Amino acid sequence: MSYPVIFAILGLIALAAVLVRMALRKDPNANSHQGHNHGTGDGHNHGDTGCGCHDEGDAANLRADSSEFHAVHHGKDTRGGCKFDPAEEKRARFLPKPKIDTSNLPAPDKRILAAHQGVTIAGITDHLNVLSGEVASVIRGKSVTIKSRNSYAKDLELALAYVEDYYKALGIPVKRVPYQVRGKTYYNIEAEILGTVDPKKVVIVSGHLDSTVGSPWSVENVAPGADDDASGTVGVMEVARALKDHKLGYTIRFVHFTGEEQGLYGSYKYSDQCAAAKTDIVGVFQMDMIGYCGKPGNRVDIHDGEDRNGSHDLVVACVRAAAQYKLDLNVVDTHNHAVDNRSDHAGFQDHGWKAVLISIEFTDDGFDPNYHTRGDRVSALNLPYMVEIIRMTIAAAADYAKIQN
Ligand SMILES: [Zn+2]
Ligand SMILES: [Zn+2]
Repeated sequence: MSYPVIFAILGLIALAAVLVRMALRKDPNANSHQGHNHGTGDGHNHGDTGCGCHDEGDAANLRADSSEFHAVHHGKDTRGGCKFDPAEEKRARFLPKPKIDTSNLPAPDKRILAAHQGVTIAGITDHLNVLSGEVASVIRGKSVTIKSRNSYAKDLELALAYVEDYYKALGIPVKRVPYQVRGKTYYNIEAEILGTVDPKKVVIVSGHLDSTVGSPWSVENVAPGADDDASGTVGVMEVARALKDHKLGYTIRFVHFTGEEQGLYGSYKYSDQCAAAKTDIVGVFQMDMIGYCGKPGNRVDIHDGEDRNGSHDLVVACVRAAAQYKLDLNVVDTHNHAVDNRSDHAGFQDHGWKAVLISIEFTDDGFDPNYHTRGDRVSALNLPYMVEIIRMTIAAAADYAKIQN
């Protein structure tokens, strides 16, 4: 056959493949919602440009199975959800929300103002670029590029090392906290600053380190995950740097979870470990996707599961922090259950602790179109917006951890 004929045939095959793929793609909002793990990517990638060359191998090992979890998480189907539950969001849209009083705000704390100045676009860009594979970095003496933070990708180890070394360089004690899933060991990272007044009380600032391009139960060798959740990872790192030189009444932990995209494994296991150790957790600020904002208005959503366990307190802390420091944010108390099982705050709420998810607008027109795709890159993020969210979290966490005079 002549080349033109071959090209014509190849073109027809490619067109057919695209049409079949479009037909197979489900509308993420048309699903029923029984459990909404933000982390599950099955069939819900928006314009996925993934390679389609996944190697299942024994990677399905981490596929969520509620029998793996502590009794408090039982009954949750952590599989197959989509980004949020629009029916729940709709149901709650017109419900009255608790009023948040932003009168009588204290004058801005000079230490927090100084800490805010330390959070810069240049600073967060450096970390985001390394974590999402835009640039190479020297990690443990070798120049490497983190192309994926997928739970089965070998590069996840580089990301773990990068985060660990960051805390070591800051002088904050850090460790890997192991957990087991079906006989295999995985790790979360925990850095901790001990409280000076009541160190038994613990505030947690967290995010998830792992990423996916839509098929989390297989090896994904390219999964940049800049918004999801390199942004939250960098947020946690920045809050730690901002608070490290201040005396805090309570202990504060900076925790980076893994296995989130497979079904919140790292955080469920970590929250179970905290429960077993009878840890007195006073509040969890989980940051998951804090970098994308495609609309004017800088809306950031705080999800408290309709004040589950009194978690609304943390929303109040965030709203007041944004007002006190005049941050360029519209902080929205979603006050519904639309993302209850969708990020790492879930396990803590299950155990009865106060926990919130801080995230971009999750409703359809505000959602990150690059979610769980190879397009989730730093270039698509709104960095000034992300800086403001980190500043809000610094102020709220400092307040919650009782910063000392
Ligand atoms: Zn995700
Ligand atoms: Zn996420």
